[in-house]
Amino acid sequence: MIDVDIDDGKEGTIVEVDESLAAANIVFIGHVDAGKSTIAGNILLKTGMVDERTIEKFQKEAKENNRESWYMAYIMDITEDERQKGKTSEVGKAFFKTKSKRFTILDAPGHVGYIADMLKGASQADYAGMVISAKQGEFEAGFDKDGRTREHAILAKSLGVSKLICIINKMDEESVKWSEDRFNKIKESLSEFLKRVGFKPDDIYWIPISGLQGDNLLENVSKHKCPWYQGPSLIDLIDSLPLPTRDDNLPLRIPVLDKYKEAGLYVLGKIESGIVRYGQTYTLMPNKTNIDVTWVFNSEENGVKFARTGESVRLKIKGIENESEIQTGSIICSVDNLCPIFNVFEAEVMFLELIEHKPIISNGYACVIHIHTIEEECIIDQVLAQIDKKVEKKVKFISGNTRAKVLINISNKAICADKFENFKSLGRFTLRDEGK
Ligand code: GDP
Repeated sequence: MIDVDIDDGKEGTIVEVDESLAAANIVFIGHVDAGKSTIAGNILLKTGMVDERTIEKFQKEAKENNRESWYMAYIMDITEDERQKGKTSEVGKAFFKTKSKRFTILDAPGHVGYIADMLKGASQADYAGMVISAKQGEFEAGFDKDGRTREHAILAKSLGVSKLICIINKMDEESVKWSEDRFNKIKESLSEFLKRVGFKPDDIYWIPISGLQGDNLLENVSKHKCPWYQGPSLIDLIDSLPLPTRDDNLPLRIPVLDKYKEAGLYVLGKIESGIVRYGQTYTLMPNKTNIDVTWVFNSEENGVKFARTGESVRLKIKGIENESEIQTGSIICSVDNLCPIFNVFEAEVMFLELIEHKPIISNGYACVIHIHTIEEECIIDQVLAQIDKKVEKKVKFISGNTRAKVLINISNKAICADKFENFKSLGRFTLRDEGK
């Protein structure tokens, strides 16, 4: 440890980062009540990130709110309001380590109205754990037309999640009892669908677990309970999966996810490209204001000298007077390599399912765009062409399940993003209409 008096000394010490562990981000997605928070909570407990005393406190609180079986989820469901409803309405954040990686968990909500938050969580994730309840009736409800399972899988794919782990949860439940038949039936229905969404079978992993009892989370389920499963536990699996290749020499890009003022100004975000170092000057876009980074906190909340691509960081910054000058969706860039600012752009879009009563898209179609941490209203100004096996054909309108080239106009303001071919995670977006 080195003591650094870079600011006023109040922030503590700077810690050497354990570079033997790679930073990785995982998001849990899926239908409401599938068990996302329970799984995340139990991972934190089993990897020693929360102590028994905290758990006891949560257990007591859960009981007082008449939600006893939810206590594990309490670890992830941070705000009081969420606790009472038993839903996860923010992208909660937590942290754990495996043998070779330092993980940030982005626990995405599964509730219908919360897709926007899920998009924020998934846009930062390297891996997605799609949690599916195996309980009789629950898998069916999550997977039918109005269930979230399908939609989340589509979004995860469009947000560039490369590895999808299908976590078949609640295997302990009375109606399931670790049944191999039930597991296979769910796997079969989902595989078919995931293939259509565009996931390659090699990028999908299947794992039966009980998030509540902790079977197959850290340790393998006992042969006595489940003689048929031969694969790794969830933690061993995510420890072994490859990460996207990251080039530290690229310019810095950190889309701002959040900010707050507390004896100084802080911003939060994930490093999409480059390295951020304390004591260095960067440029906040679209303001074009130079900022000094006076502290870098990594996902473990340690003050560090630098943090690499993939890390979720909290930065203390100087150079901006007014907090309102920083917005969700602002990007911190290298001084000599700024991201573009624009409000009209050409894009290639794969239109999946369209809204039932709006089955075609033509010039002027209004919807919402999600791009990195931004959510804005936009208009499809012009339908330019339909793309079929790389061949472009001029068309006036497009229907569902079609690839097309369009001109998108973000009506209200100019945004910061980047070309897909230069920075995939900053040039990839999702369009949404009527919440779908
Ligand atoms: P989320 O909405 O996906 O985050 O789901 P929660 O984690 O809040 O869980 C919803 C309910 O399912 C709670 O009552 C949990 O106790 C229960 N649950 C979660 N995982 C399991 C499991 O592995 N087995 C059983 N039997 N119940 C579970």
